[in-house]
Amino acid sequence: MTEKTRREFLKTGALVGLGAAAGDLIPEKAWASGRSERESRARSGAGRPTVVASQNGLAAVERAMDLLLAGEDTLEAVVSGVNIVEADPEDMSVGYGGLPNAEGVVQLDSSAMHGPTRGAGAVGALEGFKHPSRVALAVMRYTDHVFLVGAGARQFALEMGFKEENLLTEKARARWIKWRATLSEQDDYLTPEQSHEGVWDLGLEDSWDGARRYGTINCCAVNGAGDISGVTTTSGLSFKVPGRVGDSPIIGAGLYVDDDVGAAGSTGRGEAVIKSCGSMLVVELMRGGMSPKDASLEALRRIVHFTVEKRLLNDDGRPNFNVNFYAVNKSGDHGGAAIWSGRQYSVADADGVRHEDSAYLFERRG
Ligand code: ASP
Repeated sequence: MTEKTRREFLKTGALVGLGAAAGDLIPEKAWASGRSERESRARSGAGRPTVVASQNGLAAVERAMDLLLAGEDTLEAVVSGVNIVEADPEDMSVGYGGLPNAEGVVQLDSSAMHGPTRGAGAVGALEGFKHPSRVALAVMRYTDHVFLVGAGARQFALEMGFKEENLLTEKARARWIKWRATLSEQDDYLTPEQSHEGVWDLGLEDSWDGARRYGTINCCAVNGAGDISGVTTTSGLSFKVPGRVGDSPIIGAGLYVDDDVGAAGSTGRGEAVIKSCGSMLVVELMRGGMSPKDASLEALRRIVHFTVEKRLLNDDGRPNFNVNFYAVNKSGDHGGAAIWSGRQYSVADADGVRHEDSAYLFERRG
């Protein structure tokens, strides 16, 4: 361990000599045995290393915490965490294997914020790069801008040496073909049922219900020194209008970090989060003294109040979509909340790596 790393270890409150390296499992027992030390530090105003993420982020929080314990910077830790999910073709809401837009093209959105330097970077509607979060990070590090989109973002990624590749997996392509075929009775694309028996053979899983889906990963972390960072990355709403950008790459909407207070991020219907500046609202409510959970619930109430369009309301007048917030404050308290019940969020802290139930506004029936 270099002297710098060692100093960082001490500064972040990670356990010296723990031997946790990137990619190792978190040594929960050794970690828990350092708890009282961390608890007394928390009482004295310093942070507790804590990572939160969306439900699909269990592996991400684990990796991010490993890196925090190894003395890594908070933003590098969370970006490395979400890189696992971006590269996973089985997660069809993020990165490689993400569901494409209405024209069958995978367009990715991501944002990253680094609390200690007040840095921010983002990309929108980026095509051809598996790790948009890394490109967002490069925007932050190597330009005087915050947000690059579309062709310009692609050009920048190429210039920075990122490898361009086809992100559309066969599984995602099959779903898009089926979605397109079921759009209208008036077009010439046949559904499996309309096709001659047995010749519609795209390897589509029988279990797919054909529904459009939101899906994203957000991950935020605080270290023992109280440094805070966050990242959000997504392929966005499946089969979206080409060029549609959701909340994920918009600073203040799908992600917000204030190193004085905490961080928040969102998943779910991005349009609702954009209109309420959702993640910034959560952070501002925490600044006013609310817990991460209560701040998230309050921001969701704002979204419910703003939702007046008939097409977005169910028979009870409640939103027919979901939004989730994930939040952590400077001392390591965390929370997650959703409009509708049944959601969880991922956490890594002194109590280990796990899912916790998200708080909610409304109980889902049936
Ligand atoms: N918020 C993302 C978007 O609207 C999607 C999601 O999180 O489900 O693009």
